[in-house]
Amino acid sequence: MRLLVIEDDPDLNRQLATALTDAGYVVDRAFDGEEGQYLGETEPYDAVILDIGLPKVDGISVLEHWRRAGRTMPVLILTARESWSDKVQGFDAGADDYVAKPFHLEEVLARIRALLRRSTGHAKSEFNCGPVRLDTRTGRVSVDGTPIKLTSHEYRLLSYLMHHTGRVVSRTELVEHLYDQDFDRDSNTIEVFVGRIRKKLGVDCIQTVRGLGYLLTSPS
Ligand code: CA
Repeated sequence: MRLLVIEDDPDLNRQLATALTDAGYVVDRAFDGEEGQYLGETEPYDAVILDIGLPKVDGISVLEHWRRAGRTMPVLILTARESWSDKVQGFDAGADDYVAKPFHLEEVLARIRALLRRSTGHAKSEFNCGPVRLDTRTGRVSVDGTPIKLTSHEYRLLSYLMHHTGRVVSRTELVEHLYDQDFDRDSNTIEVFVGRIRKKLGVDCIQTVRGLGYLLTSPS
């Protein structure tokens, strides 16, 4: 899952990016409204954390611009403490949720998890595919209750497929959602990761759909 953090306070931006990266997400960062608006319009993010008070273009205008342009990704806004008008304006502009500053990083992480699963049509933070279970709260994967150790790349890939069970996900889509903008995007590496995940899980839940991509199905 690939996220965008738009926050002009460099310390806060770094703290958010670090916490999200540690939680297994790929994170792009922007420090003003102009750069952030551009990234959100051109890159396929799974969710965005958007500060309201930003230089160049304010967060509300950025959000309104995206929604007018048909961008539907979930957006969590960061509002000033006790500013009810930020929240009202934010929701009216198309925000999905908010966190008021100062906040605990844990709360931001929990809200992002909820936004991601809701935007993909899931009500719970645990995902199952046959005997395979992935818990987005703990970042753990198990097969029939036995913990499986995945690298962060492997976890991200499996998590993305788990969030999109039942539809074919193309390699291009995976590359776009699993790597940040600076990554050398070679879609052949996806095939390698899928192979390793299959081997580690030992059950065949990732199906290759020739010429199209991958489909997660419960093994029979
Ligand atoms: Ca700010």
